[in-house]
Amino acid sequence: MIDLIDVSKSYGPGLPAVNHANLHVDKGEFVFIVGNSGSGKSTLLRCLNMLETPSTGEINYHGTDITSKNVNVPEYRSKVGMVFQNFNLFPHYTVMKNIIDAPIHVDKVSRTEAVARAEKLLAQLGLSDKADAYPYQLSGGQQQRVSIARALALQPRILFFDEPTSALDPISTLKIEDLMGELKKNYTVVIVTHNMQQATRIADYTAFFLVGEVVEYAPTTDLFSHPREKKTEDYIT
Ligand code: ADP
Ligand code: MG
Repeated sequence: MIDLIDVSKSYGPGLPAVNHANLHVDKGEFVFIVGNSGSGKSTLLRCLNMLETPSTGEINYHGTDITSKNVNVPEYRSKVGMVFQNFNLFPHYTVMKNIIDAPIHVDKVSRTEAVARAEKLLAQLGLSDKADAYPYQLSGGQQQRVSIARALALQPRILFFDEPTSALDPISTLKIEDLMGELKKNYTVVIVTHNMQQATRIADYTAFFLVGEVVEYAPTTDLFSHPREKKTEDYIT
């Protein structure tokens, strides 16, 4: 479904933040990219979402290189959902408005339809009573659920999460993990995190990412029980 081919991204002179990375994600897969802070995980995800343009390499989405000049980037972006560490909700919008804003303005969905979708998602995520609340009135875990609802409201083909539980307490983290586990049934998901344990709990496949490079990419159980690369072994033990 999405293929990262030899992608590099430099912000300036010196070592690139992403250095010749390769990754292949099939439809329906649930993939974690695990690595230390500063290793380039967010940069990689921002390239996948075309929030950053790779310096070199290709990103093939259903066989089309989305980094090529004639690709309609906003259209591509409307097919991908993005969830961030710090939720990135609009503070002056209610929960409902946060969720319906993009469907109405980007996807040109009618207001009635957008509200109906949002109500359904809020019910699924246990937030029906929060539609009129503002983000500051919610806990971190609730805000993250709203941001997941916002991503799902665009009916994305693929979801990208950047450190989705790093700002959360342990209980909220487990709830969000349960929710991500639910998403596994219906979505293709790529999650970047420094949280190795989380990958062992829910990922089908895990990529170990070290200073800009995908060192090893394997089914999660294989990666953690029989790492092929010495660098992976050193990292996980
Ligand atoms: P991670 O998400 O794994 O912590 P990042 O992708 O945020 O890593 O950062 C990788 C490297 O790229 C870091 O050295 C960081 O300082 C640098 N970097 C990230 N974003 C930018 C930017 N917008 N401009 C310049 N350097 C950046
Ligand atoms: Mg990051």
